[in-house]
Amino acid sequence: MVEFESADAGSPSGSDVNGEKTRAKSGKEKSKKRGHGDDKSAGGLNGTHAERRSSVSKPARDFRDMPEPAPKKKKRKTTTIVPIAAAEVDESSTRSPSPVIDFDGLSRPSRGTRDRLEESVEQKETRMERMKGAVRTLLECVGEEPDREGLLATPERYAKAMLFFTKGYQENVRDIVNGAIFQEGHNEMVIVKDIEIFSMCEHHLVPFTGKMHIGYIPANAVIGISKLPRIAEMFARRLQIQERLTKEVANAIMEVLTPQGVAVVMESSHLCMVMRGVEKTSSSTITSCVLGCFERKEKTRNEFLSLIGVNRR
Ligand SMILES: [Zn+2]
Repeated sequence: MVEFESADAGSPSGSDVNGEKTRAKSGKEKSKKRGHGDDKSAGGLNGTHAERRSSVSKPARDFRDMPEPAPKKKKRKTTTIVPIAAAEVDESSTRSPSPVIDFDGLSRPSRGTRDRLEESVEQKETRMERMKGAVRTLLECVGEEPDREGLLATPERYAKAMLFFTKGYQENVRDIVNGAIFQEGHNEMVIVKDIEIFSMCEHHLVPFTGKMHIGYIPANAVIGISKLPRIAEMFARRLQIQERLTKEVANAIMEVLTPQGVAVVMESSHLCMVMRGVEKTSSSTITSCVLGCFERKEKTRNEFLSLIGVNRR
């Protein structure tokens, strides 16, 4: 779901105004895509699903929250992050079908991701030289004199800053979570709100900043609470659009933790919108991604929204 708060912020990412529909649709497609072809694995997964349900000791708080009778054969994605998920071991799958976390834990890798992670000292120097040259060109093109005193070290500074802004390309979810998943038998909503986000718009290479709120309902296992902001940080420190950032964080948590549901809401201000284009300085963009029980149950979703305070405005 994508909303623009300002009254007339129709244009900038206008195509996303229908995000709600798009999301729902792509969610379905994804679950279809993720579902494994062979019945054996699907059966096994349904089994674990049932197991989880029965382990919920407390009665549902509301009859509407009761588990649905005979869930439609909704195939759940398998996870290869088995050591982390710990609960169920699917020996047949050696590779995650998810686009979120690949085999060695580098998420959504682009060609450069692995290069950057595994580069030698010489390669690192070459990269820096190329970046410096590019920034020097930029300076010349905007009408500056790159050799004047104030700008002498700017290409290097900017290159280093840029590498920092995009350090998420050198991180992966598996290392971040690092086994910090605990079988607590806890099944109540957990929320970390107001996580500060600094990311870069991939369309303009300028920052967008804001706050992210992450909630999940465990299926017994909880994740170390500090891991949630770190997962958000990892995805934020890549070139992004807010819609995808929101979705990636939710999917990653869903994948490593397999909770009953995950909800992520992000509100942010885009410099590409504020400083240029429509120049709507007070507008903020809100995106959300709800998975699992948050998607199925309006009551759960509303509880989350009222706890993070988004409903109040
Ligand atoms: Zn932009």
